[in-house]
Amino acid sequence: MTAQLGTPDNPLRVAIIGSGPSGFYAADHLQKQRDLTVQIDMFDRLPTPYGLVRGGVAPDHQKIKSVTKAYDRVATAPNFHFFGHVEFGKDVMRDDLVKHYHAIIYAVGAQSDRRMGIPGEDLSGSHPATEFVAWYNAHPDFAHFQFDLSQENVAVVGLGNVAMDVIRILACTPDELTETDIADYALDALKHSSVKNIYVLGRRGPAQSAFTNPEIKELGELDDASIIVSPDDLQLDPISQQYVDSGEDKVATKNVEILKEFALQGDTGKPRKIYMRFCVSPVEIIGDGKVEAIKLVKNELVADDKGNLKAKPTDQFETIPVGLVFRSVGYHGRALPGVPFDDRSGTIPNDKGHVLTEAKTGQPVPGDYVVGWIKRGPSGIIGTNKPDSVETVETLLADFRAGQLLTPTAPSTEAVQALLQERGVRVVSFADWHILDIIEQERGEFRNAPRRKFSNVDEMLVAIAERKAEQERLQAAQAAAPDAMAAD
Ligand code: NAP
Repeated sequence: MTAQLGTPDNPLRVAIIGSGPSGFYAADHLQKQRDLTVQIDMFDRLPTPYGLVRGGVAPDHQKIKSVTKAYDRVATAPNFHFFGHVEFGKDVMRDDLVKHYHAIIYAVGAQSDRRMGIPGEDLSGSHPATEFVAWYNAHPDFAHFQFDLSQENVAVVGLGNVAMDVIRILACTPDELTETDIADYALDALKHSSVKNIYVLGRRGPAQSAFTNPEIKELGELDDASIIVSPDDLQLDPISQQYVDSGEDKVATKNVEILKEFALQGDTGKPRKIYMRFCVSPVEIIGDGKVEAIKLVKNELVADDKGNLKAKPTDQFETIPVGLVFRSVGYHGRALPGVPFDDRSGTIPNDKGHVLTEAKTGQPVPGDYVVGWIKRGPSGIIGTNKPDSVETVETLLADFRAGQLLTPTAPSTEAVQALLQERGVRVVSFADWHILDIIEQERGEFRNAPRRKFSNVDEMLVAIAERKAEQERLQAAQAAAPDAMAAD
C-alpha cells in the first residue's frame, strides 16, 4: 500500500522551472510546511542559479545581490535538488515531468522585451534595454552582442528602473565599475566608450515616472555625468500637481522633489550629460541601415475615464540626432512548450497561481502552477516575489489537501537523473555551481571585484570539471600519503 502523500515514505514532489527569486521563494514556502514532507527539484537552463539577481541586477548594486544567501539556505537543504543546465522544453518536457512530480511550478520570468511598434525599431543600433542589461551582466546568450559605444549621442526610452540602470552603466566611469561583477568584455567596451549625451525619453510627466527614489538620486551622484532637468518640465499639470501634493504616492512626490533639486542645480559641468525629457514619445527611429536620429512627438497628459493620466500626442514634433537607442519599455514573457500562454499580457493565465487553460474563463490545469513575472507581468522589486510565490504555494497546498494534484508513475529524483543521463544532458548540481561560484570569486580578486563571471556555458562546464578533477587528485594524494600532505 502506498504511504500517504506528503509523508517521509511518499514525499510531495514539486518541480520548479527557473531558479530566480520567485522560484526560490516558492521553494522556501514549501520547505516551511512543518507537517509536510516535500521534495523540491529546481530546473534551470543555465548552469548558474538566481535568474535576474545574476543576469539583471546592475553590477554596481552588489548589496541587492546578497539576497542569494537566503536562496543558498533553501538550496542546501536535504530535500532540494538543483538540475542546472537542463532546459524545459528541450531537455525535459512537461510530459516527462508529470511522470515524476505531483506539481510543477513555472518560475521562468519574462524573457523577452515589449515592442514599441514604431518604424525603425529594428534598425541596427536600436536595442531592447533588456539585451544590454543581459550583455553587461555576462549572460551567456548575450555575451556576443555588439553595442556601438563609439556613438556620442544615445537615447534611452522609458522611465523605469531598468532605464535608470542602463543610463548609469552608460554614464559611469570605468573606475566606478571596476570593482563590480560586470562582464570583463563590457568593462573593456565601456572604457573605450565615446558616449557623451544621453537623452532619457519619458512619454508621461515627472509625477508618472516609474523609477524609484534611490535610482533617480544615483544619477546625480556620478563622477563624470551631469543630470539636466528643465524647470519647464516640472511645471506640472493640475491633476499631477494635486497628486504630488496629496502625498498619497510617496515615491512620486519624492521623485518630483529630487528632479526639482536637479533642475535647481543645473549643469554641473561634468563631461557626460544626462538629459531628462518628459511628455515625449518616439514616433520613428530614423536612419539609412542604422540609427541616425529619433523623431519625437510632444504629448499632453489627459485623464481617462478612471482618472489615470495618459499621454496624448500633439502636433508638435522634434528630431534628436542619436546613433544608439535603448528601448527600455518593459519585459515581456515567452510561451513555454505545452503550457498555456496569454500573448497579449505575456503571462501564463492563472487564478492565484493555478494555471488556467486560457485567461479568465479557462479551466484549471491539474498540477500546473506559476509564480513571478510570468504569473503577474514584469513588475515589482525582488521582494515583491515573496508574497506572490506564497500565494501560489498556498493554492497548490489547498489542491494537495483536496487530492487534486498529479499522480506520477515514477515519483523519484533518481528517475529524473537517469532520464537526463540517457538523453546525454550534462547536469550541473548545486555543489557544481558552488565550485563555479568559488572559481568566479577567485578570478575577481585581481581587480578587487566580488567575482569575474564566466559568460560561456562550455567554459563553465570545463572549469567545473577541471576543478573537480584537481580536487579528486588532491584527495587521492592525501589518502595515499596523509602524513606527507599534513607536513606540507
Ligand atoms: P517599468 O517599471 O514598467 O517601466 C517601463 C517604462 O517604459 C515606463 O516609464 C513606461 O511608461 C515606459 N513605456 C512603456 N511603453 C512605452 C512606449 N510604448 N513608449 C514610451 N514609453 C513606454 O519596467 P522596467 O524598467 O523594465 O522594470 C521592470 C521592473 O523591474 C519594475 O518593477 C522595476 O522597478 C524593477 N526593477 C527594479 C530595479 C531596482 O530596484 N533597482 C532595477 C531594475 C528593475 P508609462 O509609465 O507611461 O507606461
